[in-house]
Amino acid sequence: MPELEEHYADLKSTVADFADKVVAPASAEHDRDHTFPYEVVAQMGQMGLFGLPFPEEYGGMGGDYFALSLALEELGRVDQSTAMTLEAGVGLGAMPIFHFGNEEQKQKWLPDLAAGRKLAGFGLTEPGAGSDAGATKTTAKRDGDQWVINGNKQFITNSGTEITSLVTVTAVTGTRENGKKAISTIIVPSETPGFIAEPAYDKVGWNSSDTHPLTFADARVPVENLLGEEGRGYANFLSILDEGRIAIAAVATGAAQGCVDESVKYARERESMGQKIGSFQSIAFKIARMEARAHTARCAYYEAARLMLAGKPFKKEAAIAKMVASEAAMDNARDATQVHGGYGFMNEYPVARHYRDSKILEIGEGTTEVQLMLIARGLGL
Ligand SMILES: Cc1cc2nc3c(=O)[nH]c(=O)nc-3n(C[C@H](O)[C@H](O)[C@H](O)COP(=O)(O)OP(=O)(O)OC[C@H]3O[C@@H](n4cnc5c(N)ncnc54)[C@H](O)[C@@H]3O)c2cc1C
Repeated sequence: MPELEEHYADLKSTVADFADKVVAPASAEHDRDHTFPYEVVAQMGQMGLFGLPFPEEYGGMGGDYFALSLALEELGRVDQSTAMTLEAGVGLGAMPIFHFGNEEQKQKWLPDLAAGRKLAGFGLTEPGAGSDAGATKTTAKRDGDQWVINGNKQFITNSGTEITSLVTVTAVTGTRENGKKAISTIIVPSETPGFIAEPAYDKVGWNSSDTHPLTFADARVPVENLLGEEGRGYANFLSILDEGRIAIAAVATGAAQGCVDESVKYARERESMGQKIGSFQSIAFKIARMEARAHTARCAYYEAARLMLAGKPFKKEAAIAKMVASEAAMDNARDATQVHGGYGFMNEYPVARHYRDSKILEIGEGTTEVQLMLIARGLGL
């Protein structure tokens, strides 16, 4: 494992302990019942996890994005849903306000988000605009001192919990000189009339992460809710996704590692034909390959985070980390299930949950194909 400075190592081990003692025991039940783990999220808030990368003046912990990523890895190791609540809450929900908000917006929204008392969603994807997120059809029209928002968003994480305070949405606010759409970002508070979080999706995995389709029917918000410059919303959201790829790579690395840990434990205990299954080279090699994937994924996201924190270009490296780590999670989940035999197909085993949960890591926050596009572009192709 790459070596960490002491304060990072301490944080990682604190979150690892919390993940094992609090998150893991609660996760199977929430997954089975498709319930949101409010009590776990409240404890994460008290630990300061939602405030990790924000300055203390906004109620944060004064840490950085790498600290957040380390916490995400440890949570992802035992439960991807819980990790995604933090990832989407901080990396996608609060971060646009921190980066693009004016002082008043930051003071108004960040302290509650950084404390985990409230959650924010990131409303980019639409029924006809996923990988092609610029195909946004949602509109925001000026009417006096208000924006009137109409349209639909799809698959929005953290958008319908009891503690959701807002969703930032991209919406077409006009036309540029070159004839293209001007897309802006607007903060929509959750209590806004005409903002409807439709019933939650019935998903394959991430069952205790909150995901809804959203409808905006003449939802009116004050003009001051424009986030950042008018017409810069799409570009701003893409830059949030660049960072977010490091965070989701960290979740995926944790998932890949969780599969290794569970498989090592199982292979040491389970006997077949008079031997521990770990003594069969076919099983040991499978687990060795899983460990190599988790290690590679970790190195990839550490490096992307290092570049980002050093203020250097990191778009290509974040895309590599996201792709490598999500593939590691999916491949390891499949192999871990194989190592567990029939038990690996039983939901009570953590590897079964990783098997259902990991697929979306290759899709959300940019599919593998989108990552390949970004990597190719980074090579000048
Ligand atoms: C559980 C969950 C949570 C999510 N949370 C959020 C959220 O909080 N906020 C948010 O805004 N979105 C969220 N999403 C949406 C997610 O980011 C999108 O699903 C993802 O970006 C893919 O978009 P799509 O589903 O429209 O697929 P499409 O873009 O329609 O892609 C379909 C397939 O075509 C491929 N493809 C598309 N274009 C190209 C191309 N040019 N070249 C090659 N292949 C291509 C894709 O790689 C994919 O394999 C979430 C999704 C899920 C399932």
